[in-house]
Amino acid sequence: MKKIAFYGKGGIGKSTTAANVSAALAEQGHSVCQIGCDPKNDSTRLLLGRVCSQTVLDTVRQCGDEISADQIVHTGFGGVQCVEAGGPEPGVGCAGRGIIVALEKLKELEVIRDDQFVLYDVLGDVVCGGFAVPIREGYATDIYIVSSGELMSLYAANNIAKGVARFAGRGRVRLGGIIGNSRNIDREQELLTEFAVRLNTKLVAFIPRDKVVNQAEIHKQTVIAWRPDSAQAAIYRQLAGFVLTNADLTVPTPLSFEELEKVVLDYGIE
Ligand code: ADP
Ligand code: MG
Repeated sequence: MKKIAFYGKGGIGKSTTAANVSAALAEQGHSVCQIGCDPKNDSTRLLLGRVCSQTVLDTVRQCGDEISADQIVHTGFGGVQCVEAGGPEPGVGCAGRGIIVALEKLKELEVIRDDQFVLYDVLGDVVCGGFAVPIREGYATDIYIVSSGELMSLYAANNIAKGVARFAGRGRVRLGGIIGNSRNIDREQELLTEFAVRLNTKLVAFIPRDKVVNQAEIHKQTVIAWRPDSAQAAIYRQLAGFVLTNADLTVPTPLSFEELEKVVLDYGIE
């Protein structure tokens, strides 16, 4: 089964999109594991209906090295196996280093299984080796970058593409595509389509900005669970179906910052 990772700038919609994709796959009967690699620990909140308090790193800190899988794997919506890597207190220690320790622990405990669809949700605007671990160590092979049409989101996406390109030379990691998460800016879908083409990939989804996402979030649920018949839920299901079968994976061709600015200038204004 596929091992995928969602990367993107902080606050862009990775966890929301990841949780809805996981929920959609679980709904179709797939065995799914979602691993949050962001020190915010909230990747799996919509699947669990709460913020996961037992992260891998917290558990190791409290109980020492001899922990069991059932202490850190929590079952959420549709049976999705939810894990949060955890991180240090803000301002103390290195969050990237924590990701390395947490993923090594998951491997040792055989939490990550080959018969499962595994989705990593990774912070991508931190230029830190630790956050590259899911790519570098081959934990994930299909990388999706969540981005809006905003310059700083595209900037983070382009940096992530640089990381994917670097590690593609050594292993199986490839770019699966750009997931557009709308911020309702002018010509956003066209801009993201062009950006994806320049990166040697495709815009694989364009997710509208919709208040149903915020309502579901307040109720600690995915849109799939909260409003299963909504148009937004259908969009997440379509994306889930796509990532499940996508065979068009590429080595990205990142842009220079000047090229990126030019794309935004050419397409970004109505
Ligand atoms: P990240 O994991 O990238 O930091 P989140 O998934 O936590 O970002 O999303 C940040 C905020 O944006 C959340 O409050 C979430 O509900 C909201 N959000 C994400 N996607 C959408 C969308 N398509 N429409 C409306 N709100 C969204
Ligand atoms: Mg998140």
